[in-house]
Amino acid sequence: MDEGERKILREMLENKVAFDQPMEQWTTFQVGGKADALCFVEDEFSLGKLLAYAKAKGTPYLVVGRGSNLLVKDQGVRGLVLILRGRLALLEGRGTEGDLVSAGAGLPLANLLNECRRQGLGGLEFLAGIPGAVGGAVAMNAGAWGKETADVLDEVEIMSTSGELIRAKRATLRFSYRTFCVPEGSVIVKATFQCTRASAQEVGERMRRYLEMRKVSQPLEHASGGSVFKNPPGDFAGRLIEGAGLKGFRVGGAVISDKHANFIVNTGGAKACDVLTLMELARKRVKEETGIDLQPEIKVVGT
Ligand SMILES: Cc1cc2nc3c(=O)[nH]c(=O)nc-3n(C[C@H](O)[C@H](O)[C@H](O)COP(=O)(O)OP(=O)(O)OC[C@H]3O[C@@H](n4cnc5c(N)ncnc54)[C@H](O)[C@@H]3O)c2cc1C
Repeated sequence: MDEGERKILREMLENKVAFDQPMEQWTTFQVGGKADALCFVEDEFSLGKLLAYAKAKGTPYLVVGRGSNLLVKDQGVRGLVLILRGRLALLEGRGTEGDLVSAGAGLPLANLLNECRRQGLGGLEFLAGIPGAVGGAVAMNAGAWGKETADVLDEVEIMSTSGELIRAKRATLRFSYRTFCVPEGSVIVKATFQCTRASAQEVGERMRRYLEMRKVSQPLEHASGGSVFKNPPGDFAGRLIEGAGLKGFRVGGAVISDKHANFIVNTGGAKACDVLTLMELARKRVKEETGIDLQPEIKVVGT
C-alpha cells in the first residue's frame, strides 16, 4: 500500500489504523501473514466512509471479528482488514418489547453472555465457549448443541457496500448451516437477540455445563480455528477423519488433534501452509475411503 493511501486512511480513521500487521495476532489459530492495513472502525459514520473509499478505489476489505473461524494465508491480506470496536461493540441491554438484547457486531460473545446472565436473560447459553464476536456469530450462523444463532436472532443491522444501513427482521433473512446469505461485502453492524426470562443462576448454570462439555471434547489447550470442516449430512467430520487414521498427524507445527480429529491445532510456530496441507490430506483420505467430500467450515483468506 503506497504512502498516499496510508495518509488518506490515517486521516479518515484519525490514526486508528496500523500497517503491515501480522494477522497471527488477530486470529485464534495464531497463524497468518501481514495485513496491509488494519483499520479500527469505531462508528457507523467511519464505516460508511471506509466502504465508500474501498468501493471508489477498488480496494478489497475483510471484516474480522475475533478471528476464530479464519485461516489467514502466509502472505497475508491485501487491502483493508476492518476490526469493529467502540460504538460498534456496545451492548444495548434489555429492550422494551419483551426480552430483547442488542449488541454491536464487534462485541465478544463472552461479554454478551455474561451480561445476559447478569440480567437473567436465557436462550443464548448454547453459544458459551464459542470464541467469536457477535458479527462473526451472525455471519457464520454459529451453533452448538443443536441450536444456531439464527434460532435466537430477532433482527440485524447491516451496512451495504454502498454505505446504506439496512435493518432486517429474522423472518426476512436466509440462513443455513454455518452460513448467512447476504450480498458479498455487507458488514453486520448490530444484532438483536430474542431471549427468555430466567434467573441469573439458571443461565449461569447452563453456561457452565456447556463450557464443561467443551473442555471434555475439544483441544482447548492449543490455538485453533475450531472445527475445520462442516459436518456432512448425517455424519461427523471428526468421526470420518479419525476413521481415516489421521488423528495425531503432524505437518510442521500443525497437528490433527488427538482429542477431536476435526480440530487442527497449532502446537507452536505453525504456518498456514502446514494447516492447508493437513486439510488437503484429510479431505483426500476421507474422499478416497468414504466418497464424502468434506467442505471447509473455516474461512481461508489472504494470499
Ligand atoms: C475453540 C473453538 C471452538 C469453536 N466452537 C464453535 C462452535 O461450537 N460452533 C460454531 O459455530 N463455531 C465454533 N467455532 C468457530 C468460530 O468461533 C465461530 O464461527 C464464530 O462465530 C466466528 O466469529 P468471529 O467473530 O471470530 O469471526 P471471524 O473468524 O473473525 O470471521 C468469520 C467470518 O465472518 C465474517 N465476519 C465477521 N464479522 C463480520 C461482520 N461484522 N460483518 C460481516 N462479516 C463478518 C468474516 O469476514 C469471516 O468471513 C469455534 C472456534 C474455536 C477456535
